[in-house]
Amino acid sequence: MTNSAQQFASDNYAGICPEAWAEMERANGGSSIAYGDDEWTQRAADAFRQLFEKDCEVFFVFNGTAANSLALSSLCQSYHSVICASSAHVETDECGAPEFFSNGSKLLVGPATAPKLTPAIIRAMATSRSDIHFPKPRVVTITQPTETGLVYSIEEVRAIAAVCRELGLKLHVDGARFAHACAALGCSPAELSWKAGVDVLCFGGTKNGMAVGEAVIFFERALAEDFDYRCKQAGQLASKMRFLSAPWIGMLESGAWLRNARHGNACAARLAAAIAGVPGVEFLFPVEANSVFLSAPESVLDELRRRGWRFYTFIGGGARFMFAWDADPARVDELAADIRSAAAGIPRVGNRQLELTDDDGKPRGPSID
Ligand SMILES: *Cc1c(COP(=O)(O)O)cnc(C)c1O
Repeated sequence: MTNSAQQFASDNYAGICPEAWAEMERANGGSSIAYGDDEWTQRAADAFRQLFEKDCEVFFVFNGTAANSLALSSLCQSYHSVICASSAHVETDECGAPEFFSNGSKLLVGPATAPKLTPAIIRAMATSRSDIHFPKPRVVTITQPTETGLVYSIEEVRAIAAVCRELGLKLHVDGARFAHACAALGCSPAELSWKAGVDVLCFGGTKNGMAVGEAVIFFERALAEDFDYRCKQAGQLASKMRFLSAPWIGMLESGAWLRNARHGNACAARLAAAIAGVPGVEFLFPVEANSVFLSAPESVLDELRRRGWRFYTFIGGGARFMFAWDADPARVDELAADIRSAAAGIPRVGNRQLELTDDDGKPRGPSID
């Protein structure tokens, strides 16, 4: 079986990058101690400590839903609440896992009009009630970059962290694409996390080129107390942990984490530049990381689908295109060309102009089905 033509519907469509794959293969060279007491896991955790210039606590889990949910539940009692943006993955795409794992901590959702949280929004939400009847605000979580591809600058994170400190809130970052934010800002992971006041970061590996796996990083070691038990209870302690941790060694020690993210961001910028100004096609959000969100007439989106392009429209309210480590620039250019000609109303099949006749010469409509 072969893979079909590359699509940009999700950065999860991508395969495993060579650096992660090679280290996985090395880890497969023999046997090793189970449940994370192995040298691969030690080395991966040390690589994070080096990358973040901090003696942090690092845990490896299978996916982002678990990483976020367990991190948030470790910061909360069941009567606490977590402030998040309305578009936050923890609110919209984790099936209630944060509430479930925290035994009921409530998510307090920001205004629908605000794609990012701000100090003013956080302050208003955290101070709107202080009576015993309302779940006590305890954590702020931001997504970096956001689900719609917006990057919080270092200054924005610092300002959010300052209001958190003032109000007694912890700051958690859903960094499913944290690498893309570092690449976009050209700053170090330390500058964008603990140096800016972040307490706990979920660092995404899956969307950065690994098969599977996210790292939960506690910058303040005391906050990580018993987190290993939480992981085990939630079914997130891998018995053959080295296969979850070793790929990180390949990602971090080779610099692939940053190269991959830069490539994804560059492909998004490439598409954006190629379709800027196309009549009827608008960017729903500034293109700051590895995603492009478009609004276009339904007929244009239908035409793109007819040409075989896959994309989701339930996130951000438009057509979403995401670029991973393996995005082929030539394929990005094909997408741009198809968007341009679809918007101009020119029917095409593949890369040739559609012949508007049937095999027997009868005229045919523009549908290519
Ligand atoms: C992909 C993603 C996650 C992780 O999702 P899983 O499917 O649970 O691995 C978390 N947060 C954001 C913003 C994401 O895009």
